[in-house]
Amino acid sequence: MAYTKRTCHHCGYRDIQPNMYKRTIKHEIGSSNAKLSKRALLTSTIFGSDRGARQVKNWASGNTSRSYVRNRQVWVCYDCDSEFYESSSSGLFYYVKGIFYTTLVFLIMGFILS
Ligand SMILES: [Zn+2]
Repeated sequence: MAYTKRTCHHCGYRDIQPNMYKRTIKHEIGSSNAKLSKRALLTSTIFGSDRGARQVKNWASGNTSRSYVRNRQVWVCYDCDSEFYESSSSGLFYYVKGIFYTTLVFLIMGFILS
């Protein structure tokens, strides 16, 4: 029986599919910060421009950054799986960590905008 060979995303090691692990990674295409123009931040904070404030709020809530991150499925070998994805709970750990940082950004931006 022939197996499809998969290439490790991290080290390039090739092995048959049953020996490889499928993982989902966050693949960043661009920076969300680029979406927020300096002028929008300036006009909203100094001149109280509604248009600028809206752009800042969209940026803070992640509305504009959504299209910049893609979930991508990759194959990793056993060594890289244990190195980069220590246990099955690490996914949950990064998920919780992500929520924590998102909340932190919200708090900071809320403080700045208030
Ligand atoms: Zn590898």
